Formats: sequence, C-alpha cells, structure tokens
Amino acid sequence: MDIRNKVALVTGASRGIGAAAAKELARQGVSVVLAARTLDGIQKVAMGIRRAGGAAEAVACDVSRYQDVFDAMERCLSSFGRLDILVNNAGIIEPISRLGDSDPELWARVADINYKGVYYGLRAALPVMEAQGAGIIINISSGAATGALEGWSHYCSSKAAVLSLTRCADKEYRDKGIRVVGLSPGTVATDMQVVIRASGINPVSQLEPSVHISPDWPARAIAWLCSEEAVDISGVDFSLKDDEGLRRVGLIE
Ligand code: NAP
Repeated sequence: MDIRNKVALVTGASRGIGAAAAKELARQGVSVVLAARTLDGIQKVAMGIRRAGGAAEAVACDVSRYQDVFDAMERCLSSFGRLDILVNNAGIIEPISRLGDSDPELWARVADINYKGVYYGLRAALPVMEAQGAGIIINISSGAATGALEGWSHYCSSKAAVLSLTRCADKEYRDKGIRVVGLSPGTVATDMQVVIRASGINPVSQLEPSVHISPDWPARAIAWLCSEEAVDISGVDFSLKDDEGLRRVGLIE
C-alpha cells in the first residue's frame, strides 16, 4: 500500500476524523493541505505533522463558500504542484431538532456545509484531476445517508445527497482515471458524538461513548482507500460498520 509523494486536500482537518486523516496521510508520505474555518486548529495540526517530518500547510476555508474551496485547491497546486487526493470530510450536525421545531436558516446551513460543500470540492478538484489523468476523492458519508433518524432530517438528507454525488461523480469520471468513494465510518469518538449525546434525541444519543471507534480507524481507512488495494471500490459508500470492511482495511484480523 504505497501512497508516498501524493498530494492531498483534507477539509474539516482541525479536529476529529479530518485531523486524524491528515496525520495518517502525512505519516504515509503524502503532502497535505489542511482546510477548516478555525485557522488556529489546522495550524496546530499542520505544525505537528511538520515536526514529525511530514509536509503540511493550513488554509482557512469555509466549505460553504466555493471561492474558499477553490483557493484551498489552488494552494495544493501552488505549494505541492498537483492534487491527487481530496477528502471531503467537513461536516456538522447541530442543531439537532425535529422538522417542525427546526430553524429554517440553521437547517439550510447544514445543507450548505454537508452537501454543497462536497459539491464545491468536486467542482474544484475534478477538472484538475481530469487534466492529470488520475485522482481519488473520498466523501465522508454516514449510515444516515440511507437511514432515517429522529431529529436528524438535515443530516440524513445531506448525507443522502452526498451519496448521490458520489454515484454521479463516479458515473462521469471513472473512465477518466478518477475514483470517487464514500466512507461510512460508523460512530467515531469526536466532538460530533458529544453534541449528539447531549441532544438526548434518538438511539444514537443513547450510545455509551466507549462503543465509538477512534478517529484513527477512519483515518487508516481513508489512506487505504487511496491505495492500489482499493482500486475496485468506486461510486459506493464503503462501510466500517461491518467486519468485512474493517478486515479489508486491516483494522481487525
Ligand atoms: P468534528 O470533530 O465535529 O469535526 C468537524 C470538522 O469539520 C472540524 O474540523 C470543523 O472545523 C470542520 N467544519 C465544520 N464546518 C465547516 C465549514 N463550514 N468549513 C470547513 N470546515 C468545517 O466531526 P467529525 O466526527 O470528525 O466529522 C467529520 C465527518 O465525519 C463529518 O462529515 C461527519 O458527518 C462524518 N461522520 C462522523 C461520524 C461520527 O460518529 N463522528 C459518523 C459518521 C460520519 P472548523 O469548525 O474549524 O471549521
């Protein structure tokens, strides 16, 4: 599994799955541009990567703004000369509320980040990858893409839209050497699960924190999905919720 010398853009890299993914990709020799709204957060992660001998840069980016996403992609080109991997990871779940109680502006804000943000990533990266003749895009999905959960209409519908984008992008770009894959990580011990638990709505909020997997697992899955071992996976959500997925990545025996 050799992904050395590739260049990656990871959105939502200031903490959680995105930060773990940036560190894991860098550990495997990938040059990484980290993007999130909190510059301080991504600068700290990037500094840690450089101290460990890796190559990393931080760029402030709100994925709900196309120009920000385009600029982050451009930073990959200006700093590292190409863009091989895009991890569309940035996402939010708050505020959790039933449809009839939801705030229309805040509901739509989740769609702007979780759904349109992924489209903006695809829109910025695909022409660059097509010109290069190769590329891998990983859209962070969720079991919520195909399920319904009380209080999560904004989140479930945005992740369903992301799965549709994964399928559409695969349809248009697979024959151009570009693989577009979703990753459904299961429940992961990040700030997002703290928000979910505090909501008290639906069975996910009742899960004991000890059942969540470490962000290092989806991070390793992301790096693995970028490798030659995963060439057969495209246009689908790859799941870490079952043993088969965990075994393929090498996370369990
Ligand atoms: P997290 O710890 O809350 O991290 C979310 C990341 O997204 C942060 O780096 C945040 O940085 C960034 N972000 C939020 N809004 C943004 C925006 N407008 N522009 C750019 N970056 C933004 O959550 P996580 O659990 O790591 O979630 C990462 C992804 O995994 C999300 O897509 C989530 O839906 C998905 N996921 C998580 C779980 C889970 O159990 N945790 C399960 C399934 C799927 P800033 O606030 O600094 O911008």
